[in-house]
Amino acid sequence: MRVPTPDQRVGEGPTPVLLPSPPAGIRDGRPGVSGVTRDALGDWFMTAGEAAWRGRQVADAIWSGRHASFEDIPQLPAALRSRLAASFRANTLVDTSVRPSDGGLTEKALHRLDDGRTIESVLMRYPARGGRRERATLCISSQAGCAVGCPFCATGELGFWRDLDTAEIVDQALFWRRHMAADGQRITNIVFMGMGEPLLNTDAVLAAADALSDTDRFGLGARHITISTSGVVPGIDRLTDLRPQFTLAVSLHAARPALRELLVPLERRWPATQVVAAATAYATTTGRRITYEMVMIGGINDTLADAHAAAELLKGRLAHVNLIPMNPVAHTPWQPSPADRIEDFANVLRRVGLHTTVRRNRGVDIGAACGQLAAELAGAPTPMAVARRQRLLVDRSAAALLDAATADALPHVLRGI
Ligand code: SAH
Ligand code: SF4
Repeated sequence: MRVPTPDQRVGEGPTPVLLPSPPAGIRDGRPGVSGVTRDALGDWFMTAGEAAWRGRQVADAIWSGRHASFEDIPQLPAALRSRLAASFRANTLVDTSVRPSDGGLTEKALHRLDDGRTIESVLMRYPARGGRRERATLCISSQAGCAVGCPFCATGELGFWRDLDTAEIVDQALFWRRHMAADGQRITNIVFMGMGEPLLNTDAVLAAADALSDTDRFGLGARHITISTSGVVPGIDRLTDLRPQFTLAVSLHAARPALRELLVPLERRWPATQVVAAATAYATTTGRRITYEMVMIGGINDTLADAHAAAELLKGRLAHVNLIPMNPVAHTPWQPSPADRIEDFANVLRRVGLHTTVRRNRGVDIGAACGQLAAELAGAPTPMAVARRQRLLVDRSAAALLDAATADALPHVLRGI
């Protein structure tokens, strides 16, 4: 992160960016202050001829989550406030709207960035139960859009706009810290499961995870932070080298190659066997159990043949499997698997000793699946476009499944196609 000197005005004159499709707006050139380390902020104060304790005061004010602008920090002299505002943005999220669901247990925020792009974060509250303390898990975005293009995912359908920078990632957590403070609540877990593929934006994600887990900054324990990847092997290897205590989640979705290639197109580049080998190295190096995520899509990846393939791939590893009924999204013909089918799938995994849980979907009514609100905002696709997309997916899944196995291993809905 390039930190401006105190008298250098950043953002004078708009910084034009390449125009992707849809066209992007103009970027604000001032770095977000939450993306700056305490040392770098301290250097800024020293160069500005300000007392070091002022720097600590500003950092404490920002990280407490109480202040979304320098103007809101009453202890600061007015001249310092305007110097800070000329060099940094106190909040990179220009505008946020929050939608509640589940009787207020789930809340989803749509954040607008300086260039007009929108990203999402979701807060899920879990009341205290059976001796477990109350939890509040925040799901944050790492990119605006995503280039991986998983067909069951609303973000995948939107396509890729741009990487988020460190402050844009961290400011999602600071937004919720402020939002929750009024009720005396706090975030207990953060998961990188919003929009984007975190390990295709590794520098900013690792810097953000560092800020979130640093006791001098956001201060959430590393073990309470989960990085979810669709299987970017070099990114997993980089994490292994750093030996952090973050939880690594791998979006597996299918163990049979042809089917996984349909569900997670990165399979072509990094096959599941390589992904699982890299994740196992992370588990061995850090002692942290890997979470494998499987979105359960009715009649597509929920057959017993798929369960046995996943069991074969994962058995004996330091792993936990999460089975998540697919959240229906507009552009796919697919629906979540029925509960009894997911239970049968789970039992195959449990029989080989894999710890397996079945998740309930949260916030379906507010579109809490990855990217759904932003997709809505981008405008509903025409019924013809949806029908075309759905036909394509039916054809491609039939082809993938025919390729994957013998006829009796095929899901019943596709037999005879
Ligand atoms: N790109 C990363 C992290 C963001 S997606 C990844 O894929 O792991 C976070 C999780 O949401 C992934 O496990 C993804 O498979 C899941 N997801 C996406 N769309 C979904 C849907 N329609 N229903 C249920 N889960 C979904
Ligand atoms: Fe990207 Fe993850 Fe969505 Fe796949 S599931 S398109 S990797 S955000």
